[in-house]
Amino acid sequence: MIDVEERKLGELTIRIDRLLCVGFGDCIEEAPTAFEFDDEGIAVFRENAAATEPGIVIEACRSCPVDALEVLAPDGSRIVP
Ligand code: SF4
Repeated sequence: MIDVEERKLGELTIRIDRLLCVGFGDCIEEAPTAFEFDDEGIAVFRENAAATEPGIVIEACRSCPVDALEVLAPDGSRIVP
C-alpha cells in the first residue's frame, strides 16, 4: 500500500501519512464516521467519510499527536498541522 492516502472530503483534501500514524486512535474518537483502523492498526478513511462535517474532520486531524493527518484548503493552503 502507498505511504500516504489522500482523499477529497467536500472542499478539503485530507492526507493520512501511514508511516507517521502510530495508531493511538485520537482521530477515530473525534470523527468515527470519517476514520477507522485498518488490519494493521493504521488510520484509514471510512467509505462514507465525506458525509462527516468539515469542522469535525479538521478537529480530528488536529488531535493527531504525531501530525500524521494533513488538511489542505481548496486553494492548497495548509489548515492542519
Ligand atoms: S490520531 Fe494520528 S496516530 Fe492516531 S490513529 Fe489517527 S492518524 Fe494515527
